[in-house]
Amino acid sequence: MKYVDEFRDGALAKTIAARIAAAVDPARTYHFMEFCGGHTHAISRYGVTDLLPGNVVMVHGPGCPVCVLPIGRIDMAIALAISRKAILCTYADTMRVPASGGLSLMKAKAKGADIRMVYSAADALRIAQDEPAREVVFLAIGFETTTPPTALVIRQAATLGLANFSVFCNHVLTPAAIAHILESPEVRELGTVVIDGFIGPAHVSTIIGSQPYDYFAEEYAKPVVIAGFEPLDVMQAVEMLVRQVNEGRAEVENEFTRAVTPEGNAKAKALVAEVFELRRAFEWRGLGKVPYSALRLKEEWAAFDAERRFAMTEKSVADNKACECGAILRGVKKPTDCKVFGTVCTPETPIGSCMVSSEGACAAHYTYGRYRTAA
Ligand code: SF4
Repeated sequence: MKYVDEFRDGALAKTIAARIAAAVDPARTYHFMEFCGGHTHAISRYGVTDLLPGNVVMVHGPGCPVCVLPIGRIDMAIALAISRKAILCTYADTMRVPASGGLSLMKAKAKGADIRMVYSAADALRIAQDEPAREVVFLAIGFETTTPPTALVIRQAATLGLANFSVFCNHVLTPAAIAHILESPEVRELGTVVIDGFIGPAHVSTIIGSQPYDYFAEEYAKPVVIAGFEPLDVMQAVEMLVRQVNEGRAEVENEFTRAVTPEGNAKAKALVAEVFELRRAFEWRGLGKVPYSALRLKEEWAAFDAERRFAMTEKSVADNKACECGAILRGVKKPTDCKVFGTVCTPETPIGSCMVSSEGACAAHYTYGRYRTAA
């Protein structure tokens, strides 16, 4: 297949669905976690679960970059714009993530803070060039996919000698989060979250390759199938996972061969390694402090590190009590388990981060109406 509509072909989807139905063992249930928010979105948008047998259960994972950003980090960013009068630049979805005191970056902007939505890290660099008298901070979020562009602008800022540009780094790492989920009490001790295999991320894997997942397959005996973001990619990945489980295999397989190699993108990885280093621990919404799960700027790039430049101190802030985002991001609950889902909390009035981005589980369920079945 070559063109995107071929990966959305209904007749082919039915053929794969029939193969999955024939392959599953009716005496057991299969639980597969799609780590990535892009897959959560595709599954909801194209109604993939409706095509799967009842004993194949998809569990949403924490791979939505906006959803996992804790309130404390948003508060820190807002403080930069309000108290330090910096121009704060970030991606669109981040603007609406609820922060403390009923604020969000969007609401802080409405109150007068200079917070600007950008399409890329390069846009933030351009603003710093245009506003030499102002401090410009790029609020960088995301998994391994968005990290190389951030590294690139830091290097460019150094080359240009831009003294007014810095990055508030919140880049997080996929493998550490998967390991954390597999080590969690819900999975290991309580058994409340059963995971028989993972659908591995698409875009992230184009950067890191398929090799980093070998560890989970071997150490935890869990199959991983890396898949693209189209509905037939997901269907095919489910079929591959079902076959692995049936055959007692726990291997890393790659459905997304058109973009992912075992080694990943060597240039991008080298760039990231040049600029960033591992943090000892980082707080994720829903997962708490996860060891070695995020990046920070290396000492030699400290001049461009907003946390050092503004002596920012980290604080931990509890989520809204009504919000179940934490449990949803760990796979313990579904969006429809939340009492305020679709009533008080909607994409227009998000209470928690999972309702903000289209990759968030709550927003995906709400937007594509799958929740009505459960309701
Ligand atoms: S519906 Fe809203 S409040 Fe409930 S878990 Fe989702 S984001 Fe949080």
